[in-house]
Amino acid sequence: MTQYVILGSGVAGISAAEAIRSQDKQSSITLIGDDPYGFYSRPGLAYYLTGEIPKDQLFNYTPQSYKALNAKFIRGRVSRILPTEHLLEFDDGKDQHRYDRLLVATGSYALKPAVPGIDLDGVVKLDHMDDASRIISLSKKAKKAVVVGGGITALELAEGLVANRVKVHYLLRGDRYWGNVLDETESRIVEHRLQEDAIVIQYQADLAEVIGKAGRVSAVRLISGKIIPCDMVAVAIGIKPRLELATVSGIATERGILTDEYLQTNLESVYAAGDVAQAIDSSSGKYVLDTLWNPAREQGWAAGLNMAGVRTPYKKSPPFNVTRLAGLTTTIIGQVGGGSDSDITGIARGDSETWRDIPDAIVAQTGFEVNRLRLMVGEKHIVGAVVMGDQTLSRPVQHIVAKRLDISSIRQSLLIPGADLSAIIAKYWTDFNKQAIRTQS
Ligand SMILES: Cc1cc2nc3c(=O)[nH]c(=O)nc-3n(C[C@H](O)[C@H](O)[C@H](O)COP(=O)(O)OP(=O)(O)OC[C@H]3O[C@@H](n4cnc5c(N)ncnc54)[C@H](O)[C@@H]3O)c2cc1C
Repeated sequence: MTQYVILGSGVAGISAAEAIRSQDKQSSITLIGDDPYGFYSRPGLAYYLTGEIPKDQLFNYTPQSYKALNAKFIRGRVSRILPTEHLLEFDDGKDQHRYDRLLVATGSYALKPAVPGIDLDGVVKLDHMDDASRIISLSKKAKKAVVVGGGITALELAEGLVANRVKVHYLLRGDRYWGNVLDETESRIVEHRLQEDAIVIQYQADLAEVIGKAGRVSAVRLISGKIIPCDMVAVAIGIKPRLELATVSGIATERGILTDEYLQTNLESVYAAGDVAQAIDSSSGKYVLDTLWNPAREQGWAAGLNMAGVRTPYKKSPPFNVTRLAGLTTTIIGQVGGGSDSDITGIARGDSETWRDIPDAIVAQTGFEVNRLRLMVGEKHIVGAVVMGDQTLSRPVQHIVAKRLDISSIRQSLLIPGADLSAIIAKYWTDFNKQAIRTQS
């Protein structure tokens, strides 16, 4: 009987436990986590904040699912792994726990800007259930908030505050939103929609200080000297994998915990998955950070199988996110961007380093208002895409990119300026499916 231990009961940890149980019905699985809420949908926090879904809908793992797992849950924080002894030490300094195979799936945490006043009451982030509940509670009295940062979470904060009837000023350090993933037209579409929601965007606006009165936020001061009075400051400047435990335990790290294609770390019998892992992408040979739900789930699953002795390489698929930017459903797939974004330090929530790889591709685009399709057209494949607004082509394009379908037959027509990309892709997809049915029958 093997003692499997999983640190962190987020999606990576739960998925690993499911994978282990799918192979090994007898052995013990213990999940150790310090989150009092256990497993819930973190992306769903944005919808809880806007009031679109109640809190209890974030907990979509059913009692039957827990029963099927047949795992033991321990609430606690592990502070050190003793790899030679195969022991875990808890932060109370007393308890220890034995493991035969261990998964570290401890996620990541939100960074705060290093400016005076950042710890004042009224500075918030959106990282955890308690953060969302706190924003809702503070919004009952607040009239005006300043949002600082970039990526998806900054918009989720801005929209969440607006939904809670708080006036929002959104500070951007540069001259456009999410400049290393979106192109200029896409950024402007998002900014325009934020402005339609009465959000005031301030460009070239760099936070210098959060000013307080009696310990509470009363204003922010910008580097330019401008003062913006406000009752709340919401920050989303990026996240960092939780590496302290790995570092003190001798696990090799870079930006995350380095793992091979079997999700194993440099320590024998110790694996890592999810936001904390910087897993090798076997197609590029690079160690990549993804801070996305799906890769966390897939890595957890592959790690679990490997822990249970079923050698399974983690095959990273082109990362995608179907998200909402200023109320506009947007799918981001594969390699789409490049450069840097001064609003984010490192990586944001719901993000992937792969998105920013500069592809060897030509940009084709249609639609300059709400419904827009941008394709990164390589020699034989579409290597990335942004589908904004109308999502009819979201799944087909995800499939075309992920399965590296040969698009040679439509490449020239995609690259004709002004071509109707949606019509070309829709026809290609219909033909592809007809062909697939013919091949099957
Ligand atoms: C507001 C928000 C919006 C998001 N939006 C999107 C999106 O649009 N699309 C998308 O794909 N992804 C999105 N994400 C990201 C996605 O939720 C994460 O990538 C995913 O949840 C990572 O799962 P994980 O299991 O690796 O880590 P987590 O879910 O963070 O779980 C890690 C767990 O480990 C516990 N832990 C940490 N250290 C210890 C320790 N030493 N001892 C014991 N327990 C420990 C933590 O408390 C936590 O419960 C969003 C996340 C947030 C917060």
